[in-house]
Amino acid sequence: MSDTNGLQGLRGVSRPAADASESPPRDPEFDVDLFVIGGGSGGVRAARVSAGYGARVMLAEEYRLGGTCVIRGCVPKKLFVYASRFCSAFDDATAFGWHLQVPRFDWPSLVAAKDREIARLERLYGEGQERAGVEVVRSRAVLEDDHTVRLLEDGRRVRARTILIATGARPELPPFDGIELGITSDDVFDMKTFPRKLVIGGAGYIAMEFAGLFAALGSDVSVVCRGSNVLRGFDEDVRQAMTGSYTNRGIKLMFCDSICRLKRRTGAVGGGDNAGRIDVTTEQGARLVADQVLLAFGRVPNTGSLGLDRAGVKTAADGAIIVDANSRTNIGNIYAVGDVSNQFNLTPVAIREGHAFADTVFGKNAWQVDYSNIPTAVFSSPEIGTVGLTELEARAQYAEVDIYKVRFRPLKAAVTGDCEASLLKVVVESNSDRILGIHIFAHEASELIQMLAVAVGSGATMKDLMSVMAVHPTVGEEIVAMRTPTVRYDRRDASAALVSSAAD
Ligand code: FAD
Ligand code: NDP
Repeated sequence: MSDTNGLQGLRGVSRPAADASESPPRDPEFDVDLFVIGGGSGGVRAARVSAGYGARVMLAEEYRLGGTCVIRGCVPKKLFVYASRFCSAFDDATAFGWHLQVPRFDWPSLVAAKDREIARLERLYGEGQERAGVEVVRSRAVLEDDHTVRLLEDGRRVRARTILIATGARPELPPFDGIELGITSDDVFDMKTFPRKLVIGGAGYIAMEFAGLFAALGSDVSVVCRGSNVLRGFDEDVRQAMTGSYTNRGIKLMFCDSICRLKRRTGAVGGGDNAGRIDVTTEQGARLVADQVLLAFGRVPNTGSLGLDRAGVKTAADGAIIVDANSRTNIGNIYAVGDVSNQFNLTPVAIREGHAFADTVFGKNAWQVDYSNIPTAVFSSPEIGTVGLTELEARAQYAEVDIYKVRFRPLKAAVTGDCEASLLKVVVESNSDRILGIHIFAHEASELIQMLAVAVGSGATMKDLMSVMAVHPTVGEEIVAMRTPTVRYDRRDASAALVSSAAD
């Protein structure tokens, strides 16, 4: 099929990295070599790099270019986190001799500043695609069959040799009464008014990050968590540190409970200050009042009504597209990257999968993403930074495990009087001395873990870490100053041999 669908070829923009002699041969049966569905982290990278190899690429985005990360995820979230940190900075400044007027926070100004930045980024993403020669169409796209994509905006049908699905994920919402009164992270960035009382359901990344930042900005925050602790899957010491820290900051953490009903108060019933607010009822019978209820119950792959069945693409029970190590689905010419395959739902992973796909399929340079030792951070204040195995995972996998752990107060806290302890923890395989994991609860933990992941990924031993000269005075020096394990676990000996308890 040629350009019978109104597709009169792609724009004649030059493609920088493309050498005509290297371009794949044009196949008259197809309008494009690659059709990318979804202009988020994974999709734009794959489209840009593939176009750089000379592929004719079309990308459809139904909302805003940049996807979750840029528009309603990592970027606006981090901007809000920055905003929230001024509050303690003002307090700290006083301890260091500054005399400040009483600062006043203005929510609409923050939202407007955030909007300006994401609009700028969205523009840059568009320009990047255009420079690479990608044709971007603003439309929802669905599959008609294994080679045909339909654009819902104008009904066009596009025949593509290869199709990449990069449609991301969306918030998961369990059914309960009044759920429509709650908001998700998609809405939280654009609330018209600042929530003086915020109730959050869930205790994962989003719940913890937004609980911390809204509490710092002045909200009265309650978190309803169905488990017995926050952040399931993270190292136990880090989870404990976060729970203690949030409790000390006045964030109410309600464990082993779930939200089961939301109901809007009317003026007549609630009256006064609470009129218009939301009554929140939990399974355990607690009743809370909120201006907003943020539902952060995880995210599910965006595969609904995508036409996967028409193309024969297989999905898992949760709707995730099943892919192999090359991001290829069961249909040979259809691939999927990023959250839609529900593997490691982080921006750098989606980007790398998109890049590997483009290099492999269009660049004649095959490689696969290495999913081991992916570092991650929770942007609370202090932050969590983590890479590799937790203590419990290591003990399940290895016979002998050493734990190095130190709790300390950063130098700045000596002046500000902040009593909160930072935590650094290294999990080591005793026999080989190889570092299996590092877990940090400290200011700037995200920055530390990015660098420490290099050491863990390259198989560094504890001896390597100890041999590094410290940078003084820093938080990072604490990790190279560790000398003896706090605990050694030997599976052959049921009672862990306590080498030293000084750090605890
Ligand atoms: P997305 O970026 O979600 O892109 C998918 C795109 O496809 C969207 O733009 C969507 O509109 C579009 N689309 C969907 N269906 C169609 C269709 N049929 N037709 C056309 N277009 C379609 N990760 C981190 O690494 N660090 C963080 O700090 C971080 N913070 C986060 C904070 C929040 C609040 C959230 C929700 C997520 C955060 N993440 C973070 C996760 C990160 O945003 C995602 O892992 C990442 O964006 C996934 O990229 P993707 O390309 O798979 O999908
Ligand atoms: P998470 O999977 O991190 O957490 C979901 C939370 O909701 C868990 O506490 C879970 O409890 C709870 N939950 C799930 N279902 C229910 C239910 N029916 N009733 C009550 N509680 C429930 O998801 P998030 O929504 O926080 O974040 C989505 C993803 O986005 C993350 O997994 C991450 O991949 C990405 N992200 C990354 C960030 C970063 O890198 N800094 C920041 C924000 C998001 P339980 O633990 O018991 O299952």
